[in-house]
Amino acid sequence: MINKDVFHGFLQAIHHLPEMAQPDALTDAERLVRAKAVMRAKTDRGLALDLEACVNCGYCSEACHFYQSTNDPKYSPSRKLDLLRRVHARETSAFAPLKRLFLPDITLDDLKEWQELVYDACTECGRCSMICPMGVNTARGVNVMREALFEAGLAPLELTAVAQEQAGRGTVFGVGPDELRQTVDLLRSQGITIPLDEPQADLMLVTTVIDVLLFQDALAATARILNHLGVRWTLRSAGFEAANFGLLSGSESLQKAASQRLIDEALAIGAKTVILPECGHAYPALRWEARLADGRPLPFEVLAASEFVGREITAGRLQLQPPQDPSRKITYHDACKLARHGGVVDEPRAALKALGMDLRETTPTAEQNWCCGGGAGVFLINRAEGLRHQAWGIKREQIDATGADTVVVSCGSCRLNVMAGAEADAWPTTIESVVEMVARQLPG
Ligand code: SF4
Ligand code: SF4
Repeated sequence: MINKDVFHGFLQAIHHLPEMAQPDALTDAERLVRAKAVMRAKTDRGLALDLEACVNCGYCSEACHFYQSTNDPKYSPSRKLDLLRRVHARETSAFAPLKRLFLPDITLDDLKEWQELVYDACTECGRCSMICPMGVNTARGVNVMREALFEAGLAPLELTAVAQEQAGRGTVFGVGPDELRQTVDLLRSQGITIPLDEPQADLMLVTTVIDVLLFQDALAATARILNHLGVRWTLRSAGFEAANFGLLSGSESLQKAASQRLIDEALAIGAKTVILPECGHAYPALRWEARLADGRPLPFEVLAASEFVGREITAGRLQLQPPQDPSRKITYHDACKLARHGGVVDEPRAALKALGMDLRETTPTAEQNWCCGGGAGVFLINRAEGLRHQAWGIKREQIDATGADTVVVSCGSCRLNVMAGAEADAWPTTIESVVEMVARQLPG
């Protein structure tokens, strides 16, 4: 059961984030220099190819929920990379000396204008790349733009505040080891076995601030599934936070440091598998982008919770009881970072099919699924509220068209955004999580 007071308290906390951001002492000239230095350094061969390959056909706009829901050309995916394209053309492309003759240099005002385009108006969902005939990876370019703006002290204050907190105190929204222990104690008092700080384990479960504060049932459900499977597992209080505000804000150093905390704990206990919570961006942060300090791949497997559960069901190690109501109509919302970026499509569906309910697919679905509009930190940016709500409208219509009475998600950020959208629209559809639904049908 979700505590609506905690949900509304979380929304209130977001409103106060800008007050918590610590100002920097950079001059305007320094901001421009720093942003351009990142843009130059990060434009490798792949990104240069993307920037040069765009033929301005505009197909990608059809795929972007921010453009589609507003019809505003400034939100077209190709435009979001215009500054990066200009810096590349003038400074790192083969014809740079020639381009400098007629292409103006970027300005601080340009950077300030692009803050909205690459933070508020892009969830780095990757849908535009699926449609682009040239295969341009706009999400990657947007991420580089975020890194450039963060380095210039021009990230939105909300993301800056949380990134500063995670980099400084190691907490996120004030949640650290003590708050984790309180939630673990609460769940233990409800009869759920939750190993914490075990010195050795085969599997390390990672959680996130949203689950510790709000979606405690998701943490409890994952624990119950692991206990049912008889896995030797643990949470680790020194490294439990999967939310990575380095990735979301554009701080590469924080991204690495936040991942390193998890890696250190997994190595310390000899974990063979790390299970991430229902959190979209945690998946690319640890699974695809994290490495050992010497650059080698991680020596353990990283799985999303819904991916793990689906695999266990497919392998026959996890069987579920029949549902109380087999006629319940459910549909699944693919988190972009899991499905489109990570290929986690079949596993959550295997879990949902095993529930024995009436599972309906949205159109389009899976890798082509529309984003909910709140990912990549957009949910935390106050001024983006109207824009993301417009974008959410596409997702809502898509879900409604299935006739489902329940939408199941596997990402806490999506869940927050869908909950906020549902509240604003008085939308009656029930919002569920994969692990919670599976745990309800565990035998015994
Ligand atoms: S679809 Fe690809 S080539 Fe066409 S405008 Fe978009 S990014 Fe450029
Ligand atoms: S990655 Fe997603 S949100 Fe960003 S421009 Fe492409 S379609 Fe739009």
